[in-house]
Amino acid sequence: MRPVIGGGPLQAIVFDLFHTLVDPEDFRPRDFDRAERVAAVLEVEEGPFREYWEGELARLAVSPDRASDAALRYARARGRAVGPAHGAAVDDILGRYQDLALERPRAEVVEALRALRRLGLGLGLLSNAHERDVRSWERSPLRPHLDAAAFSCFIGHAKPEAAAYRSVLARLGVEAGRAAFVGDGGGGELAGARRHGFALVVLVSGQALRSGLRDRGQVETLEAEADLHLPGVEDLPGVLGER
Ligand SMILES: [Mg+2]
Repeated sequence: MRPVIGGGPLQAIVFDLFHTLVDPEDFRPRDFDRAERVAAVLEVEEGPFREYWEGELARLAVSPDRASDAALRYARARGRAVGPAHGAAVDDILGRYQDLALERPRAEVVEALRALRRLGLGLGLLSNAHERDVRSWERSPLRPHLDAAAFSCFIGHAKPEAAAYRSVLARLGVEAGRAAFVGDGGGGELAGARRHGFALVVLVSGQALRSGLRDRGQVETLEAEADLHLPGVEDLPGVLGER
């Protein structure tokens, strides 16, 4: 039986990916700073590169361009003789731990997705990511459990833009008013989901707290944007199953 939310049956759940279903910080050593390492490989000054890179990440989130190409372009503009070997090294720095996170999701997350499907729910993914972040998606054990996956770099829209939510809901064939959105709250995704009319907006905070991405105070602020606050995705089947 589908859970009942707001007077009708819930038909689908849209999940955020990073820090919600998977977390690269579970694999990345605490001192592994990507911008610092890329700057070292390219032999460019770290401070200015970091500033450039933060701007580039926003652009790459809505473009299929390769992140390593953007880094090489920066180095070439500063007279560095960089080639394919530099590109491969940058690619590895940017993607190594994203790959591991996608390839080795926690078993309880996979089990939760199975349980949610047993409740008759369609499952979708909406991730703000650049191409390198999600290159391993096709190999992820999560993939068979999701009916639709929308990545900002390929759809050209990022949360909290309405067009991003619209894209994944269209793929699921479900209206926002019959769907739940579940995420760690990065980039205003929960407030965006609420504005878009999702029947239920769920904050999951456990991953971001464990990895040090957010502190308790930041999580409390995000609570105001959600209808429900759970430690993790693995708690969803129990909560929804009772509705
Ligand atoms: Mg996230």
